[in-house]
Amino acid sequence: MTLSGPIPAAACGCDCPERVAGLMPVEAARTAGLALVRPVDGGEDVCLREARGRVLARPVTARSDMPRFDNSGMDGYALRLADLSASSALPVSGVCAAGDGPAALKPGTMMRIYTGAPVPRGADTVVMQEHVERSGDMARIIHLPEAGSNIRRRGEDQRQGDEVLAAGHLLDARKLAICAGAGVGKLPVIRKPKIGFVLTGDELCAPGQNVDGGEIWDVNSPMLTALCEEAGADIAATAHVPDDRAELRAALAGMAGRVDMIVTSGGVSVGDRDHLKPVLTSLGARIAVSGVAMKPGKPVTISRLGGAVIVSLPGNPVSAFVTWHLLGRPILDRLLGRAVVGTSRRLVRTGSRIVHKPGRREYRPASIVGTDDAGHEVVSCGAQTHSARLAPLANSDGVVLIPGDTGCVEAGDTLEFLPF
Ligand code: AMP
Ligand code: MG
Repeated sequence: MTLSGPIPAAACGCDCPERVAGLMPVEAARTAGLALVRPVDGGEDVCLREARGRVLARPVTARSDMPRFDNSGMDGYALRLADLSASSALPVSGVCAAGDGPAALKPGTMMRIYTGAPVPRGADTVVMQEHVERSGDMARIIHLPEAGSNIRRRGEDQRQGDEVLAAGHLLDARKLAICAGAGVGKLPVIRKPKIGFVLTGDELCAPGQNVDGGEIWDVNSPMLTALCEEAGADIAATAHVPDDRAELRAALAGMAGRVDMIVTSGGVSVGDRDHLKPVLTSLGARIAVSGVAMKPGKPVTISRLGGAVIVSLPGNPVSAFVTWHLLGRPILDRLLGRAVVGTSRRLVRTGSRIVHKPGRREYRPASIVGTDDAGHEVVSCGAQTHSARLAPLANSDGVVLIPGDTGCVEAGDTLEFLPF
């Protein structure tokens, strides 16, 4: 199997034989989940220093032309090119440095100029210093410049009032740079969504505690709270409930009125100790997704209760991570009003054969290991793993998508890769 060319738009999900078994294709689940979301309202103004990781609520416009004045792009000499017609050597009449106010060039002279200094009135060209021989107060041009060289023109980047950044952008270092360059010191950002986190599982103990008998350390709380915070949300409430229907019901009902999104971990499958779905039904939650044709992560469920979207992730940590990445994160992005929701994807080549049984579409942790002779990125992924193994997840750069209708994937085949 070899895919080529651009990645097709959202697949129809027909690579999922289990569609008939009542499982939703991944893309349909994403659409149905997103349809439950109402972006949060409200926001605040924060200074640039505090804006990283927040989402811009309104467009930012330039306070002035960018650059604000014609300035030198080089250390060199500013002159009027026509003055060189009589002689290649001219007297140096002064100095212009960054931060100086604009000077005036005396006709028939040059001025020493440094990078970023305003070009003096009357000058039309800057000659780089490597092309000048200096001797006392005289400077001789050894390489004739083109008219207008080495001048960064007022407004050539942006004009005053131009929109430099649209609403909905996640503010990272590059976005903060353009806002700072536009002269804006405070940015309107969207309120951080409040997330309630509900951990289920009688067997779970906090990492650091001693475990006994059938107890295990809780991996999902630190992992999922970090994922939510990384994406720009606040964890406003947490609860660890035992595998008990009444306690789970009380926890969900209590949180639904107080937060924008609830993330639950575990108990969403169909065993007798899996209470999530019956509790959601008994609370009258609107269940939009209940089981998805993907591996890992089949039981993932998405619903709405009161003001909160509820994303219920399976307990196995790898399943929880992958389902968060594919279905939870886009929901949080939409709550935040982000212009782009969810993860990016690109095509890569496989480094070696991947053994796969046709069935559900699989997302398998994979690492980028280099490039092939044609320059395509090559990934390596381990043998089929079960979804509790943490090492392949910790050491991977993303997941490859192995279509459900595919058997083994051969070395050199093309697969879709979703980076973390
Ligand atoms: P569940 O989805 O509740 O049926 O759990 C599936 C598997 O994941 C079981 O082996 C659980 O012990 C394990 N598990 C559930 N929650 C966590 C967690 N927070 N950290 C680590 N393992 C978990
Ligand atoms: Mg459980």
